[in-house]
This record gives sequence, C-alpha cells and structure tokens, in this order.
Amino acid sequence: MNNTSDVIVIGGGIIGCATGFCLSKKGLKVYLLEKDYLTAGSTGRCIGGIRQQFSTRLSIKVAMESMKKFKDMAEELGQDVEFHQGGYLFLAHSEDKKATYLKLIELQQSMGLDVEYISIDDIKKIVPGISTDDLLGGAYCPSDAQANPFLCVDGYAKGIRKNGAVLPCKEVTRINIKGGKVTSITTKDNETYYAPVIVNAAGPFVKKVAQLVDIDVPIEAERHESLITEPIERFFDMMIVDYRDDGCYFNQKWDKGSIIGCYTPKPNVPGHSLGTSFEFVREMGRRTGRLIPRLTNIKIIRQWSGSYEMTPDGNPILDKTDIQGFYIVGGMCGHGFMLGPEIGSLAADFIAEGKTSYDISTFALKRDYASKEVMK
Ligand SMILES: Cc1cc2nc3c(=O)[nH]c(=O)nc-3n(C[C@H](O)[C@H](O)[C@H](O)COP(=O)(O)OP(=O)(O)OC[C@H]3O[C@@H](n4cnc5c(N)ncnc54)[C@H](O)[C@@H]3O)c2cc1C
Repeated sequence: MNNTSDVIVIGGGIIGCATGFCLSKKGLKVYLLEKDYLTAGSTGRCIGGIRQQFSTRLSIKVAMESMKKFKDMAEELGQDVEFHQGGYLFLAHSEDKKATYLKLIELQQSMGLDVEYISIDDIKKIVPGISTDDLLGGAYCPSDAQANPFLCVDGYAKGIRKNGAVLPCKEVTRINIKGGKVTSITTKDNETYYAPVIVNAAGPFVKKVAQLVDIDVPIEAERHESLITEPIERFFDMMIVDYRDDGCYFNQKWDKGSIIGCYTPKPNVPGHSLGTSFEFVREMGRRTGRLIPRLTNIKIIRQWSGSYEMTPDGNPILDKTDIQGFYIVGGMCGHGFMLGPEIGSLAADFIAEGKTSYDISTFALKRDYASKEVMK
C-alpha cells in the first residue's frame, strides 16, 4: 500500500463508510481513516431505527431513497444487515400533535409514502396492551424499518477495501493545504496520506476537524442515552415514538425481542460525552411502562450514550468548502443511520461529478439556518 489515493475520508461511521463505498463504486481509490475503530462514534451507539416520516420535501425524499438502498443492501453488500420493515408509529397525545401529523401526512402521502393516521382501535390491534390514556391516534408508516448499524458499516468497509483501504487507529491531526487546495493529511502517529479530495465525515467531531483548516461548521454535539433489555417474547413490530415532553421511543429487536430505546432529554445535554446516568434508566423504565404496562418489570441489560450531531435547523450539511477539495458531510441531527445510505450516494455524486440528481441546496454549508425540521 502506498500513501496516495483519489479520496481520503475522515471518519469510520455510517456516513464516512457509505460515502467511501459509493466513491469506490465510481472507480475511485478511497482511503478511509478512523481515529479509533469502525463504529466507535455515534453509529455504534445508535438504535438502528430507519424512518421516512419527516417534515420537508427534501428530508422525506432523502429518507425514502435511503429506504430503497436499505432494501437492496444485503444484495449490494453481499451480507445480511438484519433489515426488517416493522414500521414507525408516532403517537398523538394532544390535538396539537394530531394536527401536525395530519398536515405532514398530506405532504408525505403526496410524495408516495405509505403513511396514514390511525385510530386508537387500530393502534390497540398492532400494539397489544398499549395504554390509551390521553391517546388520540397516531401516524403510522408500515414500511419504516430497523437494521443493524454494525453490519451495514462492515459491509460498506468491505466494499472500500476492494480498491482502497480502511485504516483504524489513524487520527487525523493536520490537513495540509497548498495554493488553496488540499494536498494531504497527517495523522497523530505522524504519517502523511496524499489525495486531492478530503471528506470530513467525523460525526460529532466534524467541527473540530474543520477547525484544523480554520473553517467553522455549525455542528454541536448533544448527549443522548440509550438502553437495551433482556429478550422477551415479541408482541409488537414497530418503533413507537411518544413525542410528549416526557416521552420516549423504542422498538423490539425483530430477531431476539429485546426492547431498545431512548428519550430526548429536556433540557438537552450539550457537548460530546459518553457518560450515563441512573436518572435515564429510572425515567426510561417509567416512560415505557406508562405506555405499555407489561414492559414495567423487564430487566435492563446495558445502557450507554453517544452524541447527536446537531445543526441549528435540524438538517444535514453536505457541501464543498472554500478550500478546494475539502468537503463536509455531517450534522445528521440524530438521523445519520437512516439517512446514511442516500447521503453517502449524494455525497459521492457531488464530489465525483459536481452535481446530484436532485436539488440539495438546503444542505449547503452557508445557508440560512432559520427553518426547523419538525420530526426531530
Ligand atoms: C443513543 C443514540 C441513538 C440513535 N438512534 C438512531 C436511530 O435509531 N436511527 C438513526 O438514523 N440515527 C440514530 N442515532 C444517530 C446516529 O447514530 C448518527 O446520526 C450517525 O451515526 C452519525 O454517523 P456519522 O458517520 O456522521 O458519525 P460517527 O458514527 O460518529 O462517525 C464519525 C467517526 O469519525 C471518527 N473521527 C472523529 N475525529 C476523527 C479524526 N480526527 N480522525 C479520524 N477519525 C475521526 C470518530 O471516531 C467516529 O468513528 C442515534 C444516536 C445516538 C447517540
């Protein structure tokens, strides 16, 4: 192996690996550098949910295209990724939420998504034993899904290795520039790798990596905790999302039956940290038990945390920068796994051909960040 490639990707999460894989498919030699091990970042800490219910045309489009890629992934990567379409159900516990979902469903249906607003009786049929206290109905999309992030990343990495290399334990500490263009990167162990294109896909560390070349990227990390329980007999199939202030979201792993879930803390916990709290375990137990009483006494077997990578408007950043050859692909705002396959494909088109098959200007680095993604 020599130290020269067509593209260097920084970051071995879903975004770096999907982007690297799609660039390799175009015949480019890709070197992917990861400071720890593949999936060490947010990707290995996510719960594997994949949905298409978003609030803007572009995010719905990206999510629907991503779903198509997840469907074909086992064949494309030559290995199972535990993909299962069990749906997503967003519960409405207020008239306000109901109105929001009904409005969004109109937009989502107009784009061909198989989503509908369902009644309490329908919810009781697909989630046996759910508490109907304050429940009005829910937005249900049966084609939403789950998959295993470790297997997806592994499959993409195998694809990159066919014509390039995946290099763990290589922390990029310098990005070298000459005449306004990137030329190479240098790692913590003082090796230099050369390429005319460098992609910053460092997840919660995108901002820090961009600072190496004095570029400010508005991506801030937020801590999110998660847990998984012992396996129990399967009795529901979808991700259940309760968006109340003290709500939560969880699904049942389709193969083993464990409950895996999170909630979004209010107020949020800013900064990158991998700490965990007893409060989360206690609250998560209370919140899931309130929704489905039979989940009250299940044993938790593990808890962990990781970072969401937040932009001010809740949308990703996929763009070039003022330094020729230096690209940013990040800021997935907690949706990086589900959006990853399509983001990787869009990034590869943008980098290799300078254009994408549809307009992604909303993902520009220098945009007006005033609008907001509602389905966060
Ligand atoms: C608890 C939790 C649950 C989640 N659940 C879901 C879910 O159900 N569905 C979903 O779609 N998303 C979910 N997410 C969000 C999702 O995990 C992220 O959006 C996604 O993984 C981001 O991928 P990434 O590749 O951009 O970042 P990462 O996976 O963080 O990858 C970036 C990598 O870059 C590496 N790196 C950083 N700096 C350097 C450097 N200087 N040199 C070399 N390498 C470097 C890091 O080590 C890291 O491995 C969840 C997140 C959390 C924390």
